[in-house]
Amino acid sequence: MERTRPEPWRVKSVEPIRLVPRRDREAALQAAGHNVFRLRSEDVFVDLLTDSGTSAMSSSQWAGLQEGDEAYAGSRGWERLERVVRGVTGFPHVLPVHQGRGAETVYCRAFVEPGDVVLGNLHFDTTRAHIRNRGALPVDVVVDEGLDPDDPSPFKGNVDLARAERVVAEHPGRARLFVLTLTANTNGGQPVSLENVRAVSSFCRRHGIRLLIDAARFAENAFLVSEREDGQRGRLPADIALEAFSLADGAAMSAKKDGLVNVGGFLALREPEDLEACRPWAILYEGFVTYGGMAGRDLEAMARGLEEGLDPAYLVARIGQVRFLHGLLSDAGIPVLRPPGGHSVVVEAGRFLDHLPRELLPAESLAAALYLHAGVRAVGLGGLAFSEPDPETGEMRPGPWELLRLAVPRRVYTDNHLAYAAEAVAELWAKRAEIGGLRPIGPPTELPHFTATFEPA
Ligand SMILES: *Cc1c(COP(=O)(O)O)cnc(C)c1O
Repeated sequence: MERTRPEPWRVKSVEPIRLVPRRDREAALQAAGHNVFRLRSEDVFVDLLTDSGTSAMSSSQWAGLQEGDEAYAGSRGWERLERVVRGVTGFPHVLPVHQGRGAETVYCRAFVEPGDVVLGNLHFDTTRAHIRNRGALPVDVVVDEGLDPDDPSPFKGNVDLARAERVVAEHPGRARLFVLTLTANTNGGQPVSLENVRAVSSFCRRHGIRLLIDAARFAENAFLVSEREDGQRGRLPADIALEAFSLADGAAMSAKKDGLVNVGGFLALREPEDLEACRPWAILYEGFVTYGGMAGRDLEAMARGLEEGLDPAYLVARIGQVRFLHGLLSDAGIPVLRPPGGHSVVVEAGRFLDHLPRELLPAESLAAALYLHAGVRAVGLGGLAFSEPDPETGEMRPGPWELLRLAVPRRVYTDNHLAYAAEAVAELWAKRAEIGGLRPIGPPTELPHFTATFEPA
């Protein structure tokens, strides 16, 4: 039996949550057009929609808010943040941004031209949308096992370098940026090995491609490397992360994940010319270079959160909790992506609801059913969320996955909340044949899963 793993904190302040009665959940789901993104948080009991911006801050971070310096330029919080980001990443140049996609706006303006191909292991959905918005093509070059739900390989976020070589050969002169995402969110937070980061780095150097790390979950990646990679076991996550950054030209960070804040981010760069290329866009879109769309107090909280997020004791509890949820679901016989990843547990909605054709949105239907059954909110990531325009015809075609992602907010829920969610999924599994499908209402849009409405089929 696995040993009990007490969290390295105690609770100081609680926020009541409540399970509203079933008929109210029915009404809420109806009003939300059966899209759980449109539910009111008040109507949700256990919210596993996302791990983004949903972390609980520490008493030190809350104290940091009080100490926030609201000077327009050169605030104390900025000095501290810059020092911490330099220390954590090793990059000398730091541009603060209000969240991860702020960094994407800036680096896509500076580094992506129409007609370019932007390589990535598995591009995150906003990254993909930003690249396309610049008239460029995002191309995923993840290893085959990354797309195989049952493959137990430890590094399913790794890049297939032969595939990357082929993409470069097929698009001569058009591949100039590689975005390596640590961990790969799309397949459940699967890590990239340090060995693979090294290989990607030399590949990029050989082809003159700029390498940026999407660092949203860099600490969780480093922790998983310290557990799973030969030669890295037992090494400090902070040291592993620093080595990964040393192999890249820069990093884009959504601090709403491993930065343990509710909003914030940064773009960190090695070369002064890259800073020059990005700075004007940062000022235009995000604000002056010492606040980047944030209040001074947010900078304080982010500086402290970045350090806390690398604490090994915290990471043991964090990753252990995700693994706990994974174990409950997989022991109940529910098809989940393997092995457990960093921040979420992903149910194969297509297999769960194998009586539903893809037009009836198995992923979104399962999310709606779970909310209705237990007030638990997870996110359906199906053909709709990963839909892409066909390069030839421009017509939207569904992506390869039908998934239900249960993301675990950091330091927010206890194991009991997660056990409750797992029981609810298991109860649905027992009566899965009764779960009906949904049909989208209206035409498709960019990132449709956020806003679409559905009707029962
Ligand atoms: C969340 C996320 C982003 C975008 O960041 P936001 O803070 O949501 O704008 C980019 N990449 C990855 C891997 C993410 O998880």
